[in-house]
Amino acid sequence: MFLKPNPDRQTLYFRATRLSKTCTKCLIEKPATEEYFALNNNKLAARCKMCDSEYNKNYRKNNIEKLKTQRKEQYYKDREKNIEDAKQWYKLNTEKKKNYDRTRQIEKREEIAAKKKEAYNRDKDKIKKQTAAYTKKQYKKDSMFNLKMRLRHRLNEAFKKYSMNGKIRKSKDYGIDYKQIIDYLGPCPGKREDYHIDHIKPLKLFDFNDLEQVKLAFAPENHQWLTKEENLRKGSKFVPKSESEPTKLTFSDNIKGEIS
Ligand SMILES: [Zn+2]
Repeated sequence: MFLKPNPDRQTLYFRATRLSKTCTKCLIEKPATEEYFALNNNKLAARCKMCDSEYNKNYRKNNIEKLKTQRKEQYYKDREKNIEDAKQWYKLNTEKKKNYDRTRQIEKREEIAAKKKEAYNRDKDKIKKQTAAYTKKQYKKDSMFNLKMRLRHRLNEAFKKYSMNGKIRKSKDYGIDYKQIIDYLGPCPGKREDYHIDHIKPLKLFDFNDLEQVKLAFAPENHQWLTKEENLRKGSKFVPKSESEPTKLTFSDNIKGEIS
């Protein structure tokens, strides 16, 4: 014995008054109104709107290239008018369009960042090895790069030791220019491995919480080449270059830290 479906009272009423209609695609009985079925030539369509939209979605997905060509052809057939229409539309919807673009931009940025992160995580070990190898190679190849990295390391260390919050800005924002420092230092006076870059007034005598002092500490004039031995002898003392020709550095009196 078949179990007959048991239509509710409303469905029975719709049927009796031809107010319901069964979609030919999904075979679901729905109210025979424009809300559920599209109206073509004054007649309700055979397929319900939900099935229509499903069909359209699939069609768009399976005919991307074809539709693209169609749209292009359509556009070029009446290009002048289309451009004019777009201009008019933009005039009327400037804010809306700007908002839309802004939102898309943010979404896009997040999307790209997420993709980059994903790609990085996928090959993390490989990328780390590659970066390390590159840095090592650059160190050997490029003495400028080498010096820059050393100075940067010194700066980071100084921030760690002599400031509350560590390094929080880009070197440039502190007024530090590695190239200027390197130019000022000039070429190493002897074998590179025998020499150190010395901070004439030692870094520990500056207050790295103070932007101006950071700038002074890493001013080109506060750098000199010293042999390892000279550097060790000097320790963390402040020894101006010579008495007769005082260093170009102008240390203001309010600099904290005592000069030993
Ligand atoms: Zn349907």
